Amino acid sequence: MDNVVVIGAGQAGASLVAKLRGLGFDGAITLIGEEPFVPYQRPPLSKAYLLGQMARERLFLRPEEYYAEHDIELRLGAPVRAIEKQARKVVLDGDELSFNALVLATGAVPNRLPAAIGGDLEGVYVIRGLADIDRLAPEFGQGRRVLIVGGGYIGLEAAAVAAQKGLEVVLIEAGERILQRVASPKTSDYFRDLHRAHGVDIREGVGLKSLTGEGRVRGAELSDGAKLEVDFVIAGIGVQPATALAEAAGLMLDNGIAVDEFGRSSDAHIWAAGDCASFPWKGGRIRLESVPNAIEQAEAVAANLLGANAPYIAKPWFWSDQYDVKLQMAGLNSGYDDVVERPGPKKGAVSFWYFRADELLAVEAMSDARAYMVGKRLIESAKSPDKAALGKSDTDLKSLI
Ligand SMILES: Cc1cc2nc3c(=O)[nH]c(=O)nc-3n(C[C@H](O)[C@H](O)[C@H](O)COP(=O)(O)OP(=O)(O)OC[C@H]3O[C@@H](n4cnc5c(N)ncnc54)[C@H](O)[C@@H]3O)c2cc1C
Repeated sequence: MDNVVVIGAGQAGASLVAKLRGLGFDGAITLIGEEPFVPYQRPPLSKAYLLGQMARERLFLRPEEYYAEHDIELRLGAPVRAIEKQARKVVLDGDELSFNALVLATGAVPNRLPAAIGGDLEGVYVIRGLADIDRLAPEFGQGRRVLIVGGGYIGLEAAAVAAQKGLEVVLIEAGERILQRVASPKTSDYFRDLHRAHGVDIREGVGLKSLTGEGRVRGAELSDGAKLEVDFVIAGIGVQPATALAEAAGLMLDNGIAVDEFGRSSDAHIWAAGDCASFPWKGGRIRLESVPNAIEQAEAVAANLLGANAPYIAKPWFWSDQYDVKLQMAGLNSGYDDVVERPGPKKGAVSFWYFRADELLAVEAMSDARAYMVGKRLIESAKSPDKAALGKSDTDLKSLI
């Protein structure tokens, strides 16, 4: 194996090529990206960068020279159009590249509001890439009115930035509560209160009926009959794994590109990592959308490309910044039947610990880094603390490990 091609110059693709060189691979590496930018980090796009508190250069994962210095051919602004599995080639506009091993690190594509309800009007945005922010950021003028559709992390982070910049913010969530897909009712309550305290008008159980305007969005009609005047709209309504190339090439899909525990797809020469890949997990399969997963899975694939034969065992963790609150979470809470609340050391600090019977599944800590770190260590070593002791603020967290 002396020629690796990677499709997708995002978090996973960039981590993979760096790890390959770090492990001593001296064959050819080509990293192909559709976006015109050197690989960059996405989390600040809905946080510090959107707020104007982070310089653009700091988004880039490595300086451009890094790739030349490590003999990694970087092809940017170069969408791959097709994979020819049998011939082991990828097809670009006006070019073809052969590979011994191909890695798909194509990420995810944001869901858009349907054109039939005005989703294609000017002034309607999604937040996925740097180009989205270049278009969106000029809308964030003081006093402007924004409607945010979707109460997941991206919608809430955008709402926090907008509120801090003095915009009038309405956020609607069609589900019963914000963060319903990922967090317990207590965490939803925490963030609802936080946003309301900053003047965000959060409306739950309310969907979008339609957007109105001639050419450009001017108003919105909501499912409860309310009508709003708006200056612009942000849709934070989830993503789909970017599987179009894999599907056309006939690779097996299952909520993403289905890979085995080593990161290999249904074709022995094609691998996948990051947001686009679903992998075996506790007898089933999951797909994670997070930076830690993109990095760690990509690094595992790099090692396996070189013959390590080491299964990828995910250790899920994630964070979100809203106002001055840092949410950190470890583990996955699906299947929980009990939540223990533990007050944190300062105002606004609290952690929620998710259990199934006596087994600790996940922890969510708001502005309580210590609770997060102890929870993460416990989960990763499959240990569960005593619930009664955990809930008492005078129990030393370290004694639980
Ligand atoms: C606004 C925002 C905030 C986030 N905040 C957090 C956070 O706080 N914490 C956290 O853990 N995670 C966060 N995430 C999620 C995290 O950024 C992703 O999980 C991570 O970027 C996934 O890495 P990836 O390499 O799989 O995909 P990406 O980083 O999306 O990279 C995929 C790349 O592949 C390219 N590509 C796709 N198809 C082709 C093709 N045919 N040819 C060439 N190139 C192609 C795409 O253009 C893209 O550049 C956030 C994401 C967003 C959008």
